[in-house]
Amino acid sequence: MNANNFSLRHLDVHTHTHFPAYDGDREDVMSRAREQGIGMIQIGSNIKTSKEAVLLAEQYNDGVWACVGLHPIHTHETFHDEHEGVEEPEEFDIEQLKDLSTSKKVVGIGECGLDYFHIKKEEDKMIQKKVFKDHIKLAHELKKPLMIHCREAYTDLIQIIKEEKEFLNECPGVIHFFCGTTEEAKDLLELGFYFTFGGAITYPKRKNGTDYEEVIRLIPIERLFSETDAPYVAPVPHRGKRNEPLFVLEVEKKIAEIKDVSPEIVSRIIIENAQKVFGI
Ligand SMILES: [Zn+2]
Repeated sequence: MNANNFSLRHLDVHTHTHFPAYDGDREDVMSRAREQGIGMIQIGSNIKTSKEAVLLAEQYNDGVWACVGLHPIHTHETFHDEHEGVEEPEEFDIEQLKDLSTSKKVVGIGECGLDYFHIKKEEDKMIQKKVFKDHIKLAHELKKPLMIHCREAYTDLIQIIKEEKEFLNECPGVIHFFCGTTEEAKDLLELGFYFTFGGAITYPKRKNGTDYEEVIRLIPIERLFSETDAPYVAPVPHRGKRNEPLFVLEVEKKIAEIKDVSPEIVSRIIIENAQKVFGI
């Protein structure tokens, strides 16, 4: 058990330093972030990586937590990613997820949701939708917030959430790496969701891409989080390199700039949000 004094001042609400991408230097990566007071929620993407997320969180007295779930890209077909170490699709295994959730370190269910970037077939979409609904019910049963991933599927995602409204918790959860429109953001705000943003907000705006400045201006800081999604999408000035939780400070800075407040205010409110949503 790693018991060095840790005081929570910042939060990387969605990170994956349990992935094989950090097998060579995981402790250093974790220490660099912890020295700056950066708490981390390690996000599982299937049973194996959910277990690893919980095990990593359990190595620390404080400041590291986990979410467990099945990522939509792992429900039907294999999208092998060497950084993640996932090779086979899985079925939703409620018993194993419930079992993992008995750890005090588990503060949420996910990542789960819809991802139509790789798939076109209606039957594959149906599988993702079913598995997402299963996660909503599990989160309701365990009274934990959802950690939602959504790519090119916001219309369906919002429709499902509305259909399953009776199963939403008072604090339903967090939309990770939100990249929808302002209208979709408004719908999800109204449904009670929080939002988290990462390195992409530090990049120049893409033509036809989400206008992050507009979306972040719309969402109250009281509904915002900062994340890295490490090892992916490193913020400027680390763009193109392996990401790590330390770089969440760049994301906070960008949110502060857009909101026209100090980074200290942003990090303080994010910690308050985390207490409300994740009870940490
Ligand atoms: Zn992720």
